[in-house]
Amino acid sequence: MIFLDNASTTKLDREVWSIIEKYSFDEFYNPSAPYYRAKEISNKIKDAKNLIIKALNGASGSNFIFTSSATESNNSVLLGQLNKRFKKVLISSGEHNSISSTITEIERKGFEVILINLNKDGQVDIDDFKAKMDDNVGLVSIIHASNETGAVNDIETLVKITKAINPNCLFHCDGVQAFGKIKVDLKSLNVDYYTISAHKIHGPKGIAGLYVKSNFKPYILGGGQQEGLRSGTENVPNIFAFANICERLDYAKNYDFIVKLRNEFIKTIRINENIIINNFANSSPYILSLILKGVNGETIVNALEKYDIFVGLGSACSSKKVGNATLEAIGFNKEIVKGSIRISFDASNTVEEVVEAGKKILEIYESLYNQVNRRK
Ligand code: PLP
Repeated sequence: MIFLDNASTTKLDREVWSIIEKYSFDEFYNPSAPYYRAKEISNKIKDAKNLIIKALNGASGSNFIFTSSATESNNSVLLGQLNKRFKKVLISSGEHNSISSTITEIERKGFEVILINLNKDGQVDIDDFKAKMDDNVGLVSIIHASNETGAVNDIETLVKITKAINPNCLFHCDGVQAFGKIKVDLKSLNVDYYTISAHKIHGPKGIAGLYVKSNFKPYILGGGQQEGLRSGTENVPNIFAFANICERLDYAKNYDFIVKLRNEFIKTIRINENIIINNFANSSPYILSLILKGVNGETIVNALEKYDIFVGLGSACSSKKVGNATLEAIGFNKEIVKGSIRISFDASNTVEEVVEAGKKILEIYESLYNQVNRRK
């Protein structure tokens, strides 16, 4: 099997399996219970939060809230941190569905949502951002590394612009495809909120989190767990597994190898001029968007599956929806975007694998292209 859909999810790191077992079968206590053993778990959860804040290089006095998914983290900011004093919300045209799907609900609450354009390199257009940012904007949400193209946004500059215009405006960044893959230093970025998810970095599914620099209004109410910030019994085994992964995370260790995988893959497929390779200037090497002109991306993905090769069709969460909002925002028309697929790498992949997958993509594409064009 050749798995090149690592932006949708990653295989669990075996090293955390013993942690999951320990806190499921031995130390399985509810951290809110009054006895000593439960209190010990509660204290370890605080340590886990601090470990993750350290891995993010978070500001002193900042907090980290464990959630069930990055989708929940994103929703809890976009729907839970709106401030009636300011009527506008800015988001980019290249956000993940867990952000863009909240727009209708934000508008229903009486706010105006303004979309920021992307430039030709898939990044938020800084001039457009400057033009749309004003002192009536209370919340901004911009993705760090795009889940569709890997394009990396200049969050530090965007935060500076935001705070210079309205120091009270909150800035959220979705870091799901950035954390563990490119440099993430929240002291430099100076964001108010930052979302991360465990299953994208070899952690378990169903555990994610939100970094909070200072204030956060609880979004999920109930038993008052996590200092009242996010109710619901903590997912103890997965929290400790997540923290353990964050403690060992070193993006620089794999970075050059992932660049090599991407380059070898590009070398294999670039011989066909009908394939658009979205190899943007400032992007994460982990994600590569391709557009195979004149065919349907879904047909390619299905054909590859027969050879036990797995690639993505845009983002996995949105693959049921037609089109690709991010690629369209970059300027590709709806028709051509139908031919898009997403290749996403992992340190467990090999050069041989990516070359084999590249050759198979070429072979399938060429035969499909000929069939389609013969019919015309
Ligand atoms: N944000 C980005 C950028 C993503 O890529 C994803 C998942 O694909 C999510 C949010 C949602 O993550 P989760 O599966 O943890 O809800």
